[in-house]
Amino acid sequence: MSICDNYKTVEEKVQKACAKAGRDRSEVTLIAVSKTKPVSMIEELLPLGVRDFGENKVQELTAKEEVLPKDIRWHMIGHLQRNKVKYIVHKACMIHSVDSLRLAQEISKEALKHEVQVPILIEVNVAGEESKFGISPSETENLIREAAKLPNIHVEGLMTIAPYVDDPEENRTVFRNLRNLSVDIRGKNIDNVNMNVLSMGMTGDYEVAIEEGATHVRVGTGIFGERNYTLS
Ligand SMILES: *Cc1c(COP(=O)(O)O)cnc(C)c1O
Repeated sequence: MSICDNYKTVEEKVQKACAKAGRDRSEVTLIAVSKTKPVSMIEELLPLGVRDFGENKVQELTAKEEVLPKDIRWHMIGHLQRNKVKYIVHKACMIHSVDSLRLAQEISKEALKHEVQVPILIEVNVAGEESKFGISPSETENLIREAAKLPNIHVEGLMTIAPYVDDPEENRTVFRNLRNLSVDIRGKNIDNVNMNVLSMGMTGDYEVAIEEGATHVRVGTGIFGERNYTLS
């Protein structure tokens, strides 16, 4: 199967999941997660009109951004170190992985310098896995209240990385909990905070995530194939 065929298969499943959930296809953004994959593979998808790509490393995002068309929307989905924020605030369309006030402050500071407005998501560790980044659900509202006061950044919603499971149904509660948290926080009507984005669901579980309200799904392996970290 070619990358384009893979993409079309995923797109069909996204459409089916939307239909099943009674949602409009336009409510869900399919992000093609191109981390570790070469520019040539990204280029294969451009004729299909695909423009949302996800990367988890600053250096890789900026290197690809430099050589690819400027209308691509680059989503920063990986753990972000504060000293690298300056390289991507003006390159990423959204930073999905904000999990501390210090990181939000740094993004705000650099966004001011570059005179850009940066949409951010708060990464929540819903399942409480020790190995994961992300803030705990109980600390989320507080972080959002503090981040909302900072200039040039805007909290647009929440993101989570669900556990690796064999049966995607096992993650339904994780997605539902993230959605409930987002509804709770939206009800607080915090200034400068939108709770319109729910970034959740990956290759193994994006259909369940869509049924539970995902607005952004991040699919890597299902589109580009397995990643080989030893060769990259
Ligand atoms: C790698 C990655 C993905 C994509 O994972 P797949 O299982 O390959 O679809 C999604 N989100 C984040 C944050 C990632 O790092």
